[in-house]
This record gives sequence, structure tokens and C-alpha cells, in this order.
Amino acid sequence: MAFKDKTNVTMMALQQAFVRMMNSVAETPCGGGYTLFYIAGKGDWKHKKDWLCEKRYWSQTGVQANRAGICRRCYANGQTWMQLEDATDESAIAPAFGEDIPLWGLAGWNPNMEWCDILHAVWLGVGRDLCGSLLMQVATHGDFAETSYDGRLRALHAKCQAWCSRNSIRPSTIEEVSLQKLGVDALAYDFPLGPSKAYAIRETTSAELHAPGVCAWALAKYGATLDSSGLWLEEEAAVAALTFGDLFMACYLEQSSKAIAEKKPLYRMRPKFHSVKCELLNRLRQGSRLNHSHVGCFNEEDYVGQVTRMLKGAVHPLTLGKRALERMLLGINVHLANAQQEQS
Ligand SMILES: [Zn+2]
Repeated sequence: MAFKDKTNVTMMALQQAFVRMMNSVAETPCGGGYTLFYIAGKGDWKHKKDWLCEKRYWSQTGVQANRAGICRRCYANGQTWMQLEDATDESAIAPAFGEDIPLWGLAGWNPNMEWCDILHAVWLGVGRDLCGSLLMQVATHGDFAETSYDGRLRALHAKCQAWCSRNSIRPSTIEEVSLQKLGVDALAYDFPLGPSKAYAIRETTSAELHAPGVCAWALAKYGATLDSSGLWLEEEAAVAALTFGDLFMACYLEQSSKAIAEKKPLYRMRPKFHSVKCELLNRLRQGSRLNHSHVGCFNEEDYVGQVTRMLKGAVHPLTLGKRALERMLLGINVHLANAQQEQS
């Protein structure tokens, strides 16, 4: 990649070629009366920042975040991103992108077509933060015979695996649940006093887990509503996704405020929280019916994961490319051999 004044020149040249190609197929039908149009741009945020020459992006920190802003769709900055308005500022969208990027020359393109990735914002962002906090709360307040976090998290893990088996999900999907995996400093985290039988019963019926339970339920319903819909959301599904999404955000915010008041390291607040609201939920609120799980980077990340797994082991940096292709060929041959065997 070549850079000039912080602009990724290689990417801009690629974009130029892409725009030229797309414009030519939009004008000339590519056979059978079909034409090809660009309708949505997806991608990991770090990549999009370079690809779109963005001036405001969430990973900006400190003084820069306050001066430039952190959101593609509003003027929220490092100090104001937690003030969540329901309406996105339309006038803020276009100036977030580079003035000279070739995409402006693509017929029919406008900045509203560029989407935030639900995988990173929700499932690896706020959703993951919720999951970690929830596991710690269940280990703290749940009904367990074990008398340490290590023991309780192990028991919780066993329960998860049993649930997976009952529901035909690979039990190894969740490899491990431990303080280390959750990134918890065990010394700073007090184990609950007790735990006598009476303590366990009292805590099981305690209200401590009710609100976090609703938060997790709302997130699961939001995800399930999107996953069970096609590329375009029916009105009913869109309203449901928005309702569950809003409920999840409200519950998370409440739990986060509570954790801060009680000085507990739970329900971390990060600018990704703003992204979920501003880039995903507000779009549904404003009438977009594009199912944003379809513009998430699930398959792309999976592909990168597969390539990484394939290259695991002793591979010298100098021969990395060659080895990758060799191993891929081996993989394809095994696949073909298996397919042939199945046929005969
Ligand atoms: Zn925003």
C-alpha cells in the first residue's frame, strides 16, 4: 500500500478502477438485459476509514476525537457521544467523507449507502461486553454449590455446553469460560459473601439478575428478528427489530449507570454503543428497510479465519504466499476426492 499525505493511494487507484467498471456496466447491459448497480457498501471500520477517506470515525481518541468527531452520521465527539439523539443529523453525513474520493463519480452513489458493520458494532462490540458482564453477574448471583469464581464459571460453562448439546449446537462453540477469558482481575473483583444454601436461594430469586436478563433477551430477539428476515425487512419485522434494539440499548445504559454508581467493572461504555444507535437503529427509525445483518462482515471474517487456520504452524514469512497457495490446493484436492467418493 502506498500513502501520500495520509491518503491510501493504492486504495484510491483501486476505487477509481472500480467506479469506471461499475459506471460502464450500469450504462451497457451486461447480457440478458441485466445491468449492475452498487446499492450498499460494507466493510470493517478500519478499512472503510481508508477506503472512504473518512474524517470522523469511532476509533479516534483524545483531542482529535473532540475536534473532529467520532461518528459518520452525526457530529458527536469524544465528549458528547453518549448524548443519544433519535434523529441523525442529515447535514453531517456528506462532510464525513473525503471530497476527492472516486466514489462521488459513481452513478447513483450517495454516502447513505455506506453501512456500519453489525458484526463489529454489536456482536463483537456491545453484545460481547454484555455477555462478559452477564456471565460475571450470573456467577455472582446464580444458584451454584461452588464457592469460587473459578468453580462457578466452570459450572456455568458446563451448563452452556449441555444446553448446546440439547439444541444441536456444537458444544465446543464456547471453548472456555474463565476469569482470564473474561479479562477480569480476580483480585479486584470481590467474591460474594456466603455462600450458604440460604444465600443461594435468596440470590436466585433476587432482582439482581432480572434487568440483565431482559437486556440479554432483548438483544437475542433483535438478532433473531434480523436473522429470520431476508435482505429487505417487512414492516412488522423492522418495527420489532427497532423495538427490541431500543429496549436492549435502554437496559444496557441503565446497567452501565448502575455499575458506575456501584463502582463495579461491568457494562463497559464504548463509542461502539453510539454506533449501534446512530448507524443501525436510527436508520431503521428513519425508514430504511435494508436488513443490516446482510451488510455485516460475517462471511468475510470467517474467510480470514479459515486462511489463518490454514497457515497455522511453522511457515516462514518469505514463503508465506507460496505455502498458502500450496495448502489451498491440497485442501481443494481433498474436497474433490471426498466429493468423488460420495458420488461413486
Ligand atoms: Zn452519531
